[in-house]
Amino acid sequence: MNSWEPVIGLEIHVQLKTRTKMFCRCELGWAEEENTRTCPVCLAHPGALPVPNRRAIEWTIRIGLALGCTIADRAIFARKNYFYPDLPKGYQISQFDMPSCVDGTFLVPGADAGSDREIAIVRAHLEEDAAKTIHVGGAGGRIHGAERSLVDFNRGGTPLVEIVTGPDIRSADEARRFLQLLRQTVVELGVSDAELEKGSLRCDANVSVRRVGETGFRTKAELKNMNSFKFVADGIDAEIARQIEIYESGGEVRQETLHYDPTSGRITPLRSKEDSDDYRYFPEPDMVPVEPDAAMVAAQRAEVGESPGARIVRLRETLGFDTASGLVTSGRDRLYDRVVAAGADARAAANVVMNQLAQAGVAPDEVDPVELAKLIEARDRMPREALLEALARAGDPGFRADDAIAGSALVDDTAALGAIIDAIIAANPGQVAAFRGGKEGLLGFFVGQVMKETGGKASPKVVNELVRARLAG
Ligand code: ADP
Ligand code: ZN
Ligand code: MG
Repeated sequence: MNSWEPVIGLEIHVQLKTRTKMFCRCELGWAEEENTRTCPVCLAHPGALPVPNRRAIEWTIRIGLALGCTIADRAIFARKNYFYPDLPKGYQISQFDMPSCVDGTFLVPGADAGSDREIAIVRAHLEEDAAKTIHVGGAGGRIHGAERSLVDFNRGGTPLVEIVTGPDIRSADEARRFLQLLRQTVVELGVSDAELEKGSLRCDANVSVRRVGETGFRTKAELKNMNSFKFVADGIDAEIARQIEIYESGGEVRQETLHYDPTSGRITPLRSKEDSDDYRYFPEPDMVPVEPDAAMVAAQRAEVGESPGARIVRLRETLGFDTASGLVTSGRDRLYDRVVAAGADARAAANVVMNQLAQAGVAPDEVDPVELAKLIEARDRMPREALLEALARAGDPGFRADDAIAGSALVDDTAALGAIIDAIIAANPGQVAAFRGGKEGLLGFFVGQVMKETGGKASPKVVNELVRARLAG
C-alpha cells in the first residue's frame, strides 16, 4: 500500500503596526497597562460608529501585492457574529465573501530548483483583532480549569490581515519555511513586527493526510496558535503522526480544532469546528465598500521589492541553500549583495555578514558596504582579534576600514621576525634539544613565544615557516 502524504493549509494572522486601531483613533500599544487604550468605538458603546483606518487598507493591499494577489476593485466589510467576552460588539468586522486580495502565489524555495514550491494564496483580508483574554489560576493559562478570566481591551480593534493558503503544503518543514518567508516579507514591507512570540504573527495549521496517489482530500483538523517556528513544525508533525495512526488502526479522523502543547508534545481537542454559517455573516451597514483607485494600488506596488523566495533562489547558486536561506530570513542578504558588489569574495562576505557581524550585534543597515568589503579583503593580513574588533565597529558612524587595517597590519618582515626567533631559540636550549629529538609538538611553543613577543601581530604563516626552518637547521 502507498505511504502517507501530509496535506497542510495555513491561516496566518498578521497584526499591522499602524499608529491607531482599525476603526477608532485609539493608539496601538504593546505591553501598555491594561485597558488604557480604549474608547466608545472599540468598547462598543451604543451609537458609536466605526471609521476605517486608511493606512491599514493601504497596507493590506501592499501585502496582497507582495503575495501576487489580484486586488479587488471593491471589497466589503461584513459582521461576523459570535458571543465571547473578547468581543464587546458581539461581532467582529471582517472582510468575508469579498476580500481585498485574492488568488496569489508564494514561492518557497527548496534545496534545489527541482524542489521549489509555489504555494497558492487563496485570499488576504482585513479585519479587526479581538481583545485579549487572560485566564487566571488553574491549568497553565488555559481556559479549562481557570478560576477566572480577565479581558484587556487594548488589543481589541487592532488591524489584522488574515492570509489563507491553499492546501498545498506537503510537510511540517515546508510549513515552517513558508511561515519564515512570509514573516520576512511583511517585516520588509514595513507593515508589521510579525513576532510569533508576541502574537503579532499567529499561525493556525489545517492538517490532513492521504495515501500517495490518492486524489481529493480527507478530513482536516485545525491546530491553533503555535507561538514559535519550531512549535509550528513540531505541532504539525505530531498531528500527522496522530492521523496516520488513526487510519492505520481502522478509525476516522474527526474535523475538530486542536491544541498542541509543546512541553508534553501532546495534542488535545479545543472544540469541534463550527460551520461558517454559524457566524451569520452579513454586510456591515456602517461601512462603505473599499474601492482603491489605481494610483493608490500603484503606490503600494512601488513599496514591494524582490521577494525573499526569489532572493534565496538567486543566492542559492553561489552559496548553497542553507547559507542563502539564513542570509535572507535574517534580513542580512541586502548587505551581503552590496558587499559583494563592492568587490568582496562571496563566501567570505556571507560568513562575515551572517555570522561575525551578527554575533557582534551589528545592524546590517548601519554598515557601509564599501568599507566592509575592504575589511573582508584584508582579513588574512590582520590578526584575528584585530579583525573581530574592527568588524564589531563596522556599524559605527564614520568607520574607516583603512584605519583599522593600518593600525593592525601583521608583521611579516622576515628579518625582524628572524631576529626575534633567534633570541627565543637561544633562550630555550632545553626545548630546542627536545624538538630536535622528536617532540614535534613543541613547534607550537616556539610559535606562541613569537606571538607573545610581537603582541599577536606577527603573521602566523610566516612565523611557522621561519621557526621550522631555524629549528631544522
Ligand atoms: P473551512 O471552511 O473549514 O474554514 P477552508 O476551505 O476555508 O475551510 O480552508 C481553510 C484552510 O484549510 C485553508 O488554508 C485550506 O487550504 C486548508 N484546507 C482545506 N481543506 C483541507 C484539507 N483537507 N487538508 C488540509 N488543509 C485543508
Ligand atoms: Zn478605540
Ligand atoms: Mg474558511
